[in-house]
Amino acid sequence: MRRERASSHQGMEEKTEKLVVIGSGPAGLTAAIYGCRADLEPLVFMGTKYGGQLMLTSEVENFPGFPDPVLGPDLIARMKSQAERLGARLVQEDVVRVNFKKYPFEIYTDSGATRALAVILATGANPRRMNLQSEMKLMGRGVSNCAVCDGFFFRGKKVAVVGGGDTAMEEANFLTKFASQVQVIHRRDELRASAALRKEAFANPKISFIWDSVVTEVLGDGKVRGATIKNLKTGKESELPLDGLFVAIGYDPNTEMLRGQVALDPKGYVAVKNGTESSVPGVFVAGDVHDFRYRQAITAAADGCKALLDSEKFIKQKLEVKVVS
Ligand code: NAP
Repeated sequence: MRRERASSHQGMEEKTEKLVVIGSGPAGLTAAIYGCRADLEPLVFMGTKYGGQLMLTSEVENFPGFPDPVLGPDLIARMKSQAERLGARLVQEDVVRVNFKKYPFEIYTDSGATRALAVILATGANPRRMNLQSEMKLMGRGVSNCAVCDGFFFRGKKVAVVGGGDTAMEEANFLTKFASQVQVIHRRDELRASAALRKEAFANPKISFIWDSVVTEVLGDGKVRGATIKNLKTGKESELPLDGLFVAIGYDPNTEMLRGQVALDPKGYVAVKNGTESSVPGVFVAGDVHDFRYRQAITAAADGCKALLDSEKFIKQKLEVKVVS
């Protein structure tokens, strides 16, 4: 849906939104749902590719309230229609720039500018890809970025994890609960992961390591049946039979347009204090754009709720000050 602009470059004085939410994964949409209930009339910039990581997920079995599996895009569609029914204005546009140095804050999309008393940042993070066509083709069909979400489907099966960092070790350790065998494919001969996670992985009899190697192709037609692995030292390629491939080579938070506007941590995630506050009073943060630890739909949704409750207090104070002065 295109929005009727609340304000424009020329007419920014016309109207100031109480609350703008940027992002439309579980964090942003939950903030929107709670925002409607708090009478904040949220304006949500969903992004042109809305919905976040759930849009690339097949069956979700761990979101409470769904006794039967629900497809990731269906879960987003439900959250979206819930927000719309309650009155949220959902706009399918990308925010290209923000100015948090001015107050009310300014938020720019290609079609104009909007002013807001408070902003919730819920722009998420993208799992890094190996950049193989076959990886994307089989995403949700044996290729996954989330062992907690999908590990359950690989009971008694052979899986591999790509990566050598903390996430890869956590995924590998977690997957041993279900899989019969977990092979870690790492491009070097030394792990980047912390000592504790390394130790846990080395001690697990179900985990083995394929060093100095990268995946050059994911094999399968409709579902994963294996991967072609290249040893970077010898150049030799071999086929590895697999039922699942978990790509755990890091995440990139969507914070590019926030640089210089809010404090980011050394990894590029938004720095958060006191629950959901960013470094700018009135700008709140929810979901994977700050949380590299839990990264679950349910934790992002909970964050969206918390960010809304915090922004509600902030907006109330601002409006009270305005009435008094
Ligand atoms: P990360 O630390 O950046 O590790 C990414 C891993 O993937 C590295 O081993 C890297 O190899 C490999 N890699 C990167 N690009 C690749 C490519 N194109 N092909 C093949 N391999 C590739 O990412 P992360 O493990 O997601 O962790 C991100 C941050 O979150 C870290 O600071 C981590 O400590 C933190 N974290 C903490 C916990 C925890 O405390 N429990 C859990 C998860 C994450 P190289 O080693 O050769 O660079």
